[in-house]
Amino acid sequence: MIDRICISINNRCNLRCKYCHFHEKGIIENVDMNVFSILDNVKKYAKGSFKIGFVGNGESFLDWLNLKSYIEYLDGYDNISVYTITNGTVDLSEEDWMFLEEHRVNVGFSIDGYRELHDMNRCESFDKAVKNVEEYKRVTGHYPTFNATVGEDSLKNAEKVISFFKPYGTRVTFSRMIGKYGISLQEYREFLELAKKEISVRRGGLDCTMYGGKCGSGINNYFFSNGKVYFCGNCIDLPPIGSSNTPFEELEKISIQFDRNYCYRETL
Ligand code: SF4
Ligand code: SF4
Repeated sequence: MIDRICISINNRCNLRCKYCHFHEKGIIENVDMNVFSILDNVKKYAKGSFKIGFVGNGESFLDWLNLKSYIEYLDGYDNISVYTITNGTVDLSEEDWMFLEEHRVNVGFSIDGYRELHDMNRCESFDKAVKNVEEYKRVTGHYPTFNATVGEDSLKNAEKVISFFKPYGTRVTFSRMIGKYGISLQEYREFLELAKKEISVRRGGLDCTMYGGKCGSGINNYFFSNGKVYFCGNCIDLPPIGSSNTPFEELEKISIQFDRNYCYRETL
């Protein structure tokens, strides 16, 4: 049963983060994709709760009007929840932040931790991102959630990273850095154990080992980008499963066998 997908609504970003695997693999293309037809397929398929993440190969707020129209297209489908993740560098108006709030969209800000750590990998975007975190809080009355990538430097400064998030009091979704600068699954799991003693940390179920859970690729996770569908965002350099118009009933028939305690991408 598929219960979550990610949709990359664009393929462009105003940052060039050091560890960005989309840039690393040279796969930020610019291919049109009919997002409404994917949403139509979700509406037809989803009987129970279903989660859509507007996240992917770029910064979705750069195409704000499109993102807004996709969110509006889901009005009335209370079983479908939406989240998005921003790098925090695009200024939205007060009205736009409130639009997200009123549509119950969970907004995650990608901040890796304290300034030096964040700026080292994320193009010195810390000040701008934190300014928008405060703006989000001013408008909505609460802090957003955070998404933080954990690499070697985060491991070496684990207490400092965890302490950074404490004052916000909201949930942090850590994700393991993979690829050229990656850390091992074991190191990452140890970091998560430490973090969860002090702050609210997302613990994955059957979704992705990057969040501390099991790998759900090819079961309940799919990633739509470049007019195609892939097992997940990290599998985008593997052959696609089909076109982005593929009905979910067809996707369900495609399964892969491996130990779900490990990342499928890294078993290849
Ligand atoms: S903000 Fe995200 S998509 Fe953009 S370069 Fe950084 S990691 Fe990649
Ligand atoms: S293949 Fe790896 S990155 Fe993709 S969902 Fe599974 S664990 Fe996560």
